[in-house]
Amino acid sequence: MAAPKFEVPELKGYTDIPLLREGAAAEVKSFPANAQIQEALGFPGELAENWQETAIGRMGELLGKYRSLQVFMDACVHCGACTDKCHYYLGTSDPKNMPVARQDLMRQVYRRYFTFAGKYFPKLVGAKDLTREVLDDWYRYYYQCSECRRCSVYCPYGIDTAEITMAGREILDCVGIGQKYTNEILGKVHRIGNNLGLPGPALLDTLTGLEEDIEEDTGFAVKLPIDVKGAEVLLITPSADFFSEPHVESLIGYAKVFHAAGISWTLSSLASEAGNFGMFIGNYEQMQKVALRIREAALELGVKRIVVGECGHAWRVAYSFWNTLIGVGLGAGADDKYGRMLQQQLDPNYPQPAHICEVTYDLLQQGAITMDKEANDHRIITFHDSCNVARGSRMGDMPGGQFLIPREIIKSVANRFHDMAPETILEGTFCCGGGGGLLTDDLMELRVKGAQPRMDAFKDVVDNHGVNFMATICAICKAQFTKVLPYYGFDMSMVGGVHQLVSTAIRLDAKQ
Ligand code: SF4
Ligand code: SF4
Repeated sequence: MAAPKFEVPELKGYTDIPLLREGAAAEVKSFPANAQIQEALGFPGELAENWQETAIGRMGELLGKYRSLQVFMDACVHCGACTDKCHYYLGTSDPKNMPVARQDLMRQVYRRYFTFAGKYFPKLVGAKDLTREVLDDWYRYYYQCSECRRCSVYCPYGIDTAEITMAGREILDCVGIGQKYTNEILGKVHRIGNNLGLPGPALLDTLTGLEEDIEEDTGFAVKLPIDVKGAEVLLITPSADFFSEPHVESLIGYAKVFHAAGISWTLSSLASEAGNFGMFIGNYEQMQKVALRIREAALELGVKRIVVGECGHAWRVAYSFWNTLIGVGLGAGADDKYGRMLQQQLDPNYPQPAHICEVTYDLLQQGAITMDKEANDHRIITFHDSCNVARGSRMGDMPGGQFLIPREIIKSVANRFHDMAPETILEGTFCCGGGGGLLTDDLMELRVKGAQPRMDAFKDVVDNHGVNFMATICAICKAQFTKVLPYYGFDMSMVGGVHQLVSTAIRLDAKQ
């Protein structure tokens, strides 16, 4: 690893609150999207002359559409409870990375244009005009928020900075200022079907190669089927699972689970991406366009169940938004023809959608799959709760199922497990530092610094319990940690998926 061009924080093994350093992260800025990338998504390619009017107009629309946004703008009492809860503030010391300050970037403008006092006595209420300088600050600091929602857990009013960030990014996009990383990827999904731009034939090739590897390793012909009409399960998984390390090990784990349980399943070349970056930019139309590929694939293949692989934000979109986006899931609307068709097609005996961890957990409970726990004895494992699973969704039919189920799977497949410090897991989990559209090399400094709180908690269990493996169920967390672990002196192979552990332990020879 080349020497970093920034100072890597020193780990202490616990969360330390830094002294404020005004402007410490002001130079950290992700590359903006060019006109071609913006226009491909239907956004303006650059700032128009009347950008200010457009931005205020869009803000008014969002305030009308999302009542929560209006409440968040009005409700903050500046109590300060959230100030030290953001990993980017803890890692960078920049006061504008305090959640309340991030919110205030929008609140000042809201007051100026949408409140009586702000219109007539702006100075008295801290209202500000939406100037180019303010817009630049929005871009800078709304792309230094991973939309992890940790701050909202500690706010007495439940103010969710992530929603404010999403609104900020949506307004920026609608005036022609987008982020290259996120918007380029959205374009790839629309054109090709997945974030990596992996075309169907390349995907098929990769899967065939993996099947050969599994058979060579295990002696069992475990299949990775694609586009199989009439399969029971359609697996929607992040495209990183197809060839990135360690992600692919989890894909092999899912395949082994289906094989061992005798469940027919398929992947889809049309919907070869679980991730949905439309959520990151707060744009409902983009989010729906990405999600509709999944509905189309499910209808075409005639599957009975839709299962989502290890991807944090994809699970949040599936669990919390598919009902309105594509008409599937709890509370799904009945006014959409294709949504109704799919609801009739899907098996009502199963929750829709299901997480792969729910599937594996249920099979373990039923005794339908068996594990050789000793196969993981070389590992002492901890679990990193991913933000969007922890604070944006749940699993199973019990409160806190999203915390319990992955841990129960780990304990079923391995003998040695230690949780990290209580204030850094479950609802209070720290973001990996690369979520919410920040997993780009131009933000490496922010990613490394933002990972510090998680790395401190990890160091504690490494030093005191000999932990050598951090399991997670998110493709972004895996990609982020493989990059940042070495900055902190850890080996990149110390991170992997829960189904990587399942893959190691599952008995393929067990009689079902
Ligand atoms: S949502 Fe997460 S990243 Fe954004 S301000 Fe809150 S704690 Fe920080
Ligand atoms: S905790 Fe809530 S009310 Fe208090 S400063 Fe933060 S956002 Fe405002």
